[in-house]
Amino acid sequence: MKYLNDGNNLLQTETRLCHVGRNPDKHAGMVNVPIYRGSTILSETLEEWQSRKGCPVASYGRFGSPLSRALEAAVCELEGGYRSILFPSGLSACTHSLLGMLKAGDHLLISDSVYQPMRIFADQVLTRLHIEVQYFNPTQGSALSAKIKENTRAVYLESPGSLTFEVQDVRTLGAIAHQSDALVIMDNTWATPLYFKPFEHGVDISIHAATKYIVGHSDALLGIATANKAAWPALQSSAHHFGEIAGPDDIYLALRGLRTLAVRMKQHWDNGLKLAQSLQTHPAVDKVLYPALPNDSGHELWKRDFLGASGLFGVVLKPMSWPQLSVFFNSLRLFGIGASWGGYDSLVLLVDPPSERTEAPRAFEGPLIRIHAGMEDANDLIADMHYALQAAGEVEGGRVVCREEGATTG
Ligand SMILES: *Cc1c(COP(=O)(O)O)cnc(C)c1O
Repeated sequence: MKYLNDGNNLLQTETRLCHVGRNPDKHAGMVNVPIYRGSTILSETLEEWQSRKGCPVASYGRFGSPLSRALEAAVCELEGGYRSILFPSGLSACTHSLLGMLKAGDHLLISDSVYQPMRIFADQVLTRLHIEVQYFNPTQGSALSAKIKENTRAVYLESPGSLTFEVQDVRTLGAIAHQSDALVIMDNTWATPLYFKPFEHGVDISIHAATKYIVGHSDALLGIATANKAAWPALQSSAHHFGEIAGPDDIYLALRGLRTLAVRMKQHWDNGLKLAQSLQTHPAVDKVLYPALPNDSGHELWKRDFLGASGLFGVVLKPMSWPQLSVFFNSLRLFGIGASWGGYDSLVLLVDPPSERTEAPRAFEGPLIRIHAGMEDANDLIADMHYALQAAGEVEGGRVVCREEGATTG
């Protein structure tokens, strides 16, 4: 079989998704790169062993296998970076990207709408290592410039932000960071490698929780980080020195998931948009937080920078009592209640309002929920959601305001 040579990037994304990272010639003609299990990699001769020692990847299983190389090459090509490396979870990719860059005395700036486990890691682990952590308002470039210091080593972005979905002007924020020689690290999970091209916007390290859309079936945890040439050595050594290695079964599932990413994303985007539009005008809904909606505050930036939208968005409900909220959730038949997202299944989750934010606080009168539009039929999803909202509206007992703390402790 001919090796796919797409050095000129002439092929469309859908075509590349079906071919990147494959080489059946090397795997007995198998369409998919098989699962490699191995710690020891044998050499035939002492001379071969000696020659491999300079190349860790070829000398020991902890540095990867032909299967991990295949997924890394595929994601790297889609992202447009220099090299990629796998981690056993999305969070691990985030934390090690930072640990590879930072040392005691460095200053780190993080977007205030960042994925909450990252915030906990920064506040509890990085500060213990004497790394100074500060947050900035994700929607204001000027807020970032004002906070940059001589020792600012990295700026950490996530667009749109977790839970509240603020779109960031990555290009502008990146330019500000680079003026001061700070690296730009971005969590690109929401958009997938298909809908936002981080390296065209000045990002130095891009991260995906492959657990979400790349795996796509809610059955594996995996992270992947991609660097440009300058940031690659630090990223790679951070993975190697910490002994991070993803399991072969999970890598296989992610590479398999990647093949269908384009068709799945079209359905998630379409369903997300239809569902969000139908909720926007619902009397029980206060606000829908989804940059793909034309009246969302991030819509113009999203249109400028993104090539599509995922099926994940936020909804602020009008204040309702706990019994009403309970009836709403428990009346849903097609939406599972659970963490994570990116699988074929639809999900809904009551999320804590972002009360820990210091720079761009967001307070809501009613409960905040996060919806993941799966791959079901859009009208079925809309009908299910509206049925549950109506059931909640019919609950007797007054309209007790579900205040922020009520959402977590109730
Ligand atoms: C889920 C998620 C992660 C972490 O991924 P895990 O595989 O669950 O560790 C990181 N960033 C974002 C934006 C996520 O949604």
